[in-house]
Amino acid sequence: EVRVRFAPSPTGPLHIGGVRTALYNYLLARKLGGKMLLRIEDTDQNRFVPGAEEYILEALAWCGIVIDEGVGVGGPHAPYKQSERKPMYKQYADQLLADGHAYYAFDTPEELDAMRARLQAAKVPNPQYNSITRTQMRNSLTLPEDEVKGLLDSGMPYVIRLKVPRKEEVRFQDLIRGWVVVHSSAIDDKVLMKSDGMPTYHLANIVDDHLMEISHVIRGEEWLPSAPLHVLLYRYLGWEKTMPQFAHLPLLLKPDGTGKLSKRDGDRLGFPVFPLEWRGIDAETGEPTLSRGYREDGYLPEALVNFLAFLGWNPGSQQEIFSMDELIQAFSIERVSKSPAKFDQNKVKWFNEHYLRAKPNAELAPYLLKALEEQNILCSPARAEQIVSVMKERVSFPQDFWQEAQYFFQAPGSYDEAVVSKKWNPQVSAALAAYADALPGTSEMTAEDLKARFSQTMEAQGLKTGQVLQLLRVAVTGRAAGPDLFETLAILGPTEVAARLRVAIT
Ligand code: GLU
Repeated sequence: EVRVRFAPSPTGPLHIGGVRTALYNYLLARKLGGKMLLRIEDTDQNRFVPGAEEYILEALAWCGIVIDEGVGVGGPHAPYKQSERKPMYKQYADQLLADGHAYYAFDTPEELDAMRARLQAAKVPNPQYNSITRTQMRNSLTLPEDEVKGLLDSGMPYVIRLKVPRKEEVRFQDLIRGWVVVHSSAIDDKVLMKSDGMPTYHLANIVDDHLMEISHVIRGEEWLPSAPLHVLLYRYLGWEKTMPQFAHLPLLLKPDGTGKLSKRDGDRLGFPVFPLEWRGIDAETGEPTLSRGYREDGYLPEALVNFLAFLGWNPGSQQEIFSMDELIQAFSIERVSKSPAKFDQNKVKWFNEHYLRAKPNAELAPYLLKALEEQNILCSPARAEQIVSVMKERVSFPQDFWQEAQYFFQAPGSYDEAVVSKKWNPQVSAALAAYADALPGTSEMTAEDLKARFSQTMEAQGLKTGQVLQLLRVAVTGRAAGPDLFETLAILGPTEVAARLRVAIT
């Protein structure tokens, strides 16, 4: 059975890179008829941020990523939050100790610092606690057995470290990268259990993936360096046969390709990097901070999902617009790229415009109605629907409707200068006056009739419609461009149009 998991740590708001990881897991689970799990990895209590877990749940739900099993849903392997699973991990550390694959280490922080300083002074590029350096340190591999026992009995703080073999090639097949081979000398003796009795990410992650019967581990490339260590853990715990398959997703780069897109980039680069707005506390200054979110910026979840799906994957065809169901049908790990994906804020906007236009007017009208309510302007839902229907081709975000459609509710206070100075003359002014006179004193008229009446009037004035059209728009709306002109006039109604023309020509 295919079982995948999204396993975020609640250390802050979920970054869009995290959302992409969740999405790819979800797509694979659905495609292969498997299960999608959500596990909260909160063993690092120092990095716990209140509200982060709720944020993760809300963000996934907003994106339409449905969790089958896990936090917020429950399931046969509950609890799914690692802090609530604490008592389960120790036995596995004990098993590794008993089998000689792990050891106790008693080094104090000062001793560890001193070791690093020694290695740095000797110009060792990447100081590690490993098969070479551990021989100099205070651990159960170097101390006599009775001393170790004495230290443990006396309550001396200790950690449990993995005993990484000295000379061995660790290899595994990544579904995206192919064979990954790492020499064990490049892996350090990672801490598995901390002195507070909490497992580290590495131990808890492997134990939980095993117990929760995870078949595929799909996660960001930043975890690739940890994977060989995880392979060793599966082996030493005797779980190699059911080890999940690994797939490490390509990095997400800043729009200019100059490096990894980070949580701090959003506000600096002018686009959101979080799905939802996040209110937090700045770690350095203690001041409240606000980070923009796609939802609050007016993006539709369908647009964000479609965009994220393409950051590292492609369907192998020209099709770009995919609903979630279509993504599920089309998705495969084989088509996930090894190379980093560049974030493109114009593309996500493009997707948003597409999905906005595809929405029924009745779903868009409430955005306009809400803005109107704030301005104390009355408008019927039917009229709001008419307006969004002509306007949706011209906006990128729902909150733009009010800005763009203001002239439907308020006569223009000024007129586009460029057009007026170039095209206004007495003849045009007379023609617009004639049009105003030709309009009936009714509130309704179709766009076709308004157009026909305009053509007749211009003909009688000896003008071509093209000479006057743009000025007609400027006179009625104040603006040089907009949606279909006669549709616009029809929504305003002939009485209002005539009134605005009379004001404009005086
Ligand atoms: N807790 C890790 C994270 O925050 C999970 C990594 C993994 O999927 O193994 O990303």
